[in-house]
Amino acid sequence: MQSYAAYIDGKWIQSESGNIREIRCPADQDLVATVPEMGRSDVDLAVMAAKTAFLKEEWSSHMNAPTRGKLLREMGRILHEQVDELAALESLTSGKPILETSLIDIHMAADCFEYYADLAAHIAGRQVPLAQQALDFTLREPIGVIGMIVPFNFPLLLASFKVAPALAAGNTVVLKPSEFTPLTALELAKIAEEVDVPEGVFNVVTGSAEVGKALSEHADVDKLSFTGSTNTARSIVQGSAASLKRLTLELGGKGPNLLFADGDLDQAINGVMTGAFMNQGEVCIAGTRIFVQDSIFDEFIERFIPRVKQLQMGHPLDWNTRVGSLISKTQLDKVEYFVKIGLEQGGRLLCGGNRPQGEEYDKGYFFEPTVFVDLTNDCEVCQEEIFGPVVVVIPFADEEEAIRFANDSKYGLAGGIWTKDIKRGLRVARRLKLGTIWINNYNLLRVEAPFGGYKMSGYGRELGLEALADYTQVKNVYVELEDEILYLYD
Ligand code: NAD
Repeated sequence: MQSYAAYIDGKWIQSESGNIREIRCPADQDLVATVPEMGRSDVDLAVMAAKTAFLKEEWSSHMNAPTRGKLLREMGRILHEQVDELAALESLTSGKPILETSLIDIHMAADCFEYYADLAAHIAGRQVPLAQQALDFTLREPIGVIGMIVPFNFPLLLASFKVAPALAAGNTVVLKPSEFTPLTALELAKIAEEVDVPEGVFNVVTGSAEVGKALSEHADVDKLSFTGSTNTARSIVQGSAASLKRLTLELGGKGPNLLFADGDLDQAINGVMTGAFMNQGEVCIAGTRIFVQDSIFDEFIERFIPRVKQLQMGHPLDWNTRVGSLISKTQLDKVEYFVKIGLEQGGRLLCGGNRPQGEEYDKGYFFEPTVFVDLTNDCEVCQEEIFGPVVVVIPFADEEEAIRFANDSKYGLAGGIWTKDIKRGLRVARRLKLGTIWINNYNLLRVEAPFGGYKMSGYGRELGLEALADYTQVKNVYVELEDEILYLYD
């Protein structure tokens, strides 16, 4: 059991109130650590530190871009080095399998720092051609203090999607991790301290929704980057209205995964498994609506269900575990509620639907991988984000119907298309109202490629060059080159 402090202005501090929060493993309720339970006054302190650091220009000046790049590269290197410790912490607190955190989450977080480290010195405006004797160009400047609020499902990874580009662009940061999973954000602060990121440039405040609310309402936070549920985003938009702060919102999803009869079914089943059950379904891009062309529907079910039944549930630190524990009792109740609704609305369960039995599951929030059929796309289970290992398989007749089903959702985050016909793949991709589309793959994010939502899945983009653009603002500079200038008020 470790006792953590929060990181503000280069110092490790407790909350002003002295309150602490216990961080427990959702799989067995073991106490992992304590962190400060902070409040508004602590957020004030952190924002003041970030503002002061920004105004000093030691970090934010474009002259310092190579230094920023160097420090971010170091942070990436140390993250790669500490993958075992960080993956264990992440799995213990989030309930997700160690296989995932070790192979994906921490390495990709590190990649993110390395990618933006390389770009820091390349942030540039453009020369604007004008039809007169003048030089016109733009500067891309940092925005200022960026508040960041992240969820529990990919704690360090989603924080890195924000922290790395924001720092590369010369902003300063106040990060609020989820109240369930704050430890790796604090470990990231230790790394920032180790590589000598200047005081006040990177701050971490810990606590509940109240801390996030304080950040979203704070007049000195120039931009807020939020990843979380669509409902929380509504309150954030309201909270940010008074100061008109810029927002990036990465929200919920209800991913469609489209299997055409001409696709490679072996590959498609692997993709469907990953899309549906990675991180026990607590994934915003999860492929939870599986649309399968009529002619291969029966074969798909015959081959898919035994694979789902084989998935091993277990403790997040067990290397054999493929489905870990959900994050909380609230989340487990939500999953059970949707299974009940699905059954009431005529759904038929082909597997799962219950909490697993056995001593090893008793203290955790485990739920069996669950597959529904006989539901239509307009039912609640298909329209609401469940955020658990529950999917629905629905047949479709042709391309038109598949597109209609896929787009019939308030969400628009990500989805997949399985076909060997590349023309069909591209045709369908263009018509899907989604921010990310995979043809013949699923759940694959790359730090180089932009990621974000259409519709109620949010706005703004993370990753790629697009995220850098979102953490900068554009200044236009006009230089007069004419000697004889005609002024309106000569
Ligand atoms: P959540 O919205 O409950 O919480 C997210 C964060 O917001 C937490 O740090 C929480 O403390 C904070 N928060 C809660 N209420 C707040 C308020 N009123 N004001 C300010 N901050 C507040 O989400 P969650 O349950 O932690 O995560 C699951 C959700 O996140 C799902 O909807 C999922 O789809 C979404 N998500 C989206 C992406 C994406 O990139 N689009 C990625 C991962 C998760």
